[in-house]
Amino acid sequence: MPSAAFPTLRVAIIGGGPGGLSSAIALSKLPNVAVTIYEQARELREIGAGIQIGYNCWKVLELLDAAAAVKGHVQETFVHRNGLNGVPLKEQIFVAVAPQYRGQRVRRTRLQAALIAKVPEGAIKLRKRLVSLNNIDEGGARLVFEDGEEVIANLVIGADGIRSVVRQSVFPSHAIKFTGRTIWRVIIPKSLIVDIPDMTSSTAWWHGPAGHFYNGLVDDPSETPEADQMFEIAVHNVVPAATVKEKRFSWGIPATNERVESHFTEYDPRVREALSRVPEGLWKEFSAFAGQRLEKVTAWDKVVLIGDASHPLTGAFGSGAAFAMQDSWILAQAIAHTRSSCQPLASALAIFDSIRSPYYHRMYEHLDKQMKTFQDAKVKNPEQTFEESLEVKIKGLGGIDTLSWIYQNDIQMVWEDFLSAEESAGIRNE
Ligand SMILES: Cc1cc2nc3c(=O)[nH]c(=O)nc-3n(C[C@H](O)[C@H](O)[C@H](O)COP(=O)(O)OP(=O)(O)OC[C@H]3O[C@@H](n4cnc5c(N)ncnc54)[C@H](O)[C@@H]3O)c2cc1C
Repeated sequence: MPSAAFPTLRVAIIGGGPGGLSSAIALSKLPNVAVTIYEQARELREIGAGIQIGYNCWKVLELLDAAAAVKGHVQETFVHRNGLNGVPLKEQIFVAVAPQYRGQRVRRTRLQAALIAKVPEGAIKLRKRLVSLNNIDEGGARLVFEDGEEVIANLVIGADGIRSVVRQSVFPSHAIKFTGRTIWRVIIPKSLIVDIPDMTSSTAWWHGPAGHFYNGLVDDPSETPEADQMFEIAVHNVVPAATVKEKRFSWGIPATNERVESHFTEYDPRVREALSRVPEGLWKEFSAFAGQRLEKVTAWDKVVLIGDASHPLTGAFGSGAAFAMQDSWILAQAIAHTRSSCQPLASALAIFDSIRSPYYHRMYEHLDKQMKTFQDAKVKNPEQTFEESLEVKIKGLGGIDTLSWIYQNDIQMVWEDFLSAEESAGIRNE
C-alpha cells in the first residue's frame, strides 16, 4: 500500500523550540500528515543569547533545508583559562572540516528564524499551553489546553522542553531537580568590550572555583558591519545541590548586574571589566534542572518525547538544539519507512526509541563517569587546591576529539546504518 493510502496522521507537536519547529518541518514533508505546533508563548521569541552550531547541527540543518539561513561567528579556537589569573590552560584548534561545517556561534534568534521560515504556514498556534494529556486508546490522545480547547491527535510529540507536561503525563513518577547551577546570559554590542585585552580574540572559558565565565562573538563579519556586531557572555555559578533547600525554577528571568557580578569578584580583572560593561537590565537568569534518564522516550504507542523533554540534562553538551533536531528528523524517517511497509505507527515509535534511547543513555553514562573522576580525585587528595581541581576538570573535558560520537555525529549516516542493520537482520532471518 503506498503511503498516500494511509489515513491522515494528525500530529500535535507541543512546543515551538528547535525540536518542535524541526518536527513540523520534517513531518510536513510526508504525505497524509497534518502537523500543528501548540506553543504556550504569546510570540515565538528566543530568550538566551547565542548557540553553538557544530558539524552535528549543520548536518541536520541541511536535511531540514534550513542551513543556508543560519550564520554566525566562525570559531577558530577555544581557550580554557584559569579564571582567577587568566593563564591559558588548554587551547583547542578546530579540526579542518569543509567550510560549511565549521563550528559557529550564532544568535539564537537566527536559528529560530531559519526554522520558522521552513514550517508550513498556519501550522503554529500560539498561546496554547498544554495542561493535560490522556490516552483514549484506539482514538488517539486527548490534549487539553489552558484556554479550555480540547484536541484529539493520533501522534503527540512532546517537544515542550525540560519541564515537559507531556513527559509528566506519560511518566508521572519522573522528576527533575535543581542541579545547583545558575546560568546568566547576555548579548551586548562588541564595541562595549572590544578594548579589553583577549576578550574578542577567541571563544574562551575562564574557569573559577565555583563556575565559569564564557565569552564569544556571534556574528558573521562578512554580513554584519563591525558597529552592529554582538558579543555573548554566559556565566555559571555552581553550589552543591544538597545545600539548596528550595529553588524556584527561573528560565529567562531578568537579573541585576549586582547579582551576577557578586559571584565573580575574585576573577581576573579582564573578566570583571567585561561584566562591568554590561548595561543594566540585560542579564537573563536560568536555573539548571536535570532528571534521571528515561528507560524509553515513547509511550502509549502514540506519544514521543524529543529534545530536552526526552533527556533533561540542561545543555550538558552544548548541543541540545542539534539533539532535538536529530530526533525530529529520525522520527520522520521512521514514520515514512514503516508506512512504506504498511506497519503501524507503533513500529515507527519503536524504531525511533531503538535509535535515540541508547544515544541518550550513552550521554548519561559519560556524565556519570566524568562526575566519578572528579569525586575520585577529591577522595584521593582531600586537600585539593583550586589549581589541582582545575587540572582534573580540564583533563576531563570532552571535546571534538574525545566526544566525536556527539560532535561529529551525522544523523543521516545513523539512519543509513539502521537500514543496513535491518536489511542484514532480514537476510539472516530468511
Ligand atoms: C545555558 C544553556 C546553554 C546552551 N547552549 C547550547 C548550545 O550552545 N548549543 C546547543 O545546541 N544547545 C544549547 N543548549 C541547549 C538548547 O538550548 C536546548 O537543548 C534546546 O533549546 C532544546 O530544544 P527543545 O525544542 O527540546 O526545547 P526548548 O527549546 O526548551 O523549547 C520548548 C518549547 O516548548 C514550550 N512549552 C513548554 N511547555 C509547554 C506547554 N505545556 N504547552 C505548550 N508549549 C510549551 C516552551 O515555551 C518552548 O518554546 C543550551 C542550554 C542552556 C540552558
